Amino acid sequence: MIVNERMTAFIDSLDRGNPAFLDEIEKYAVREQVPVIRKSMQSLLKFILAYAKPRSILEVGTAIGFSALLMSEYAPSDCAITTIEKYEKRIPVARENFRRAGREDRIKLLEGDAMELLPALEGGFDLIFMDAAKGQYIHFLPEILRLLKPGGLLISDNVLQEGDVAQSRFAVTRRNRTIHARMREYLYQLKHHPQLETVILPVGDGVTLSTRL
Ligand code: SAH
Ligand code: MG
Repeated sequence: MIVNERMTAFIDSLDRGNPAFLDEIEKYAVREQVPVIRKSMQSLLKFILAYAKPRSILEVGTAIGFSALLMSEYAPSDCAITTIEKYEKRIPVARENFRRAGREDRIKLLEGDAMELLPALEGGFDLIFMDAAKGQYIHFLPEILRLLKPGGLLISDNVLQEGDVAQSRFAVTRRNRTIHARMREYLYQLKHHPQLETVILPVGDGVTLSTRL
C-alpha cells in the first residue's frame, strides 16, 4: 500500500460507484483472485475518459475484461477498444463478459502475447492503457510509442511495485529484483524520453501518465 489505508478508504467512499454489471465482474475477480484495477485507478480512468474523450483505446492486459468494460462504459459511445490477453484461462471469461454486457462490437479482444501482437497493430491510438506483466513494460515501450498518436495518452498501472521500486535493490526480495530493475528503467525512460512528458502518481499501486509530444 503506497497511500495510507485510511486516506484510500476515505477517498474511495466518495465515489458514486459503477453500474451493477461492472460490480458483479469486479466481485467475481476479487473472489477468484483475478487482478482488477483498484477503485482509485477506476476513478482516475473515469476522469481521464470524461476529459480526453478518446475515440480509440488500446489496452495491454485484459484479464477477464473488467477495465475494458469500465472504459467502454465511460468513454464516448463510438470509442473503439482493442485489448490484448495471453492467458488462455481468462480469454473465454473475458469474451463472455463482453458478450453479456453487449459490448462485443466495441471491444476487440486479441489473443496472444503482446510482444508478438503489438508489432502487427496499426497506430493512431488516442489512449493506451498498460496493465500487463510489470517486468515487460520496458520491452513494450518502443511499439507503444509507435502506436500512440501525438497528443495521445499512455497510462501505466502498478509502476511503483507496492512501494518496492523506491527501495534499494538489496531491500527487495530476490524474485522481485528483475522487476525492480526493469521498472526503474521504465520510469527513467518515461521521464527522459524526448517524445514524452510524464508524471508519476502515487495513486493505487502507482500510475504514470505520459503524453506523446
Ligand atoms: N486490466 C485488467 C487486469 C489485467 S491483469 C483489469 O483491470 O480488469 C494483467 C493481465 O495481463 C493478466 O491477465 C496477464 O495474463 C496479462 N498479460 C501479462 N503479460 C502479457 C503479455 N505479454 N501479453 C498479453 N497479456 C499479458
Ligand atoms: Mg494492474
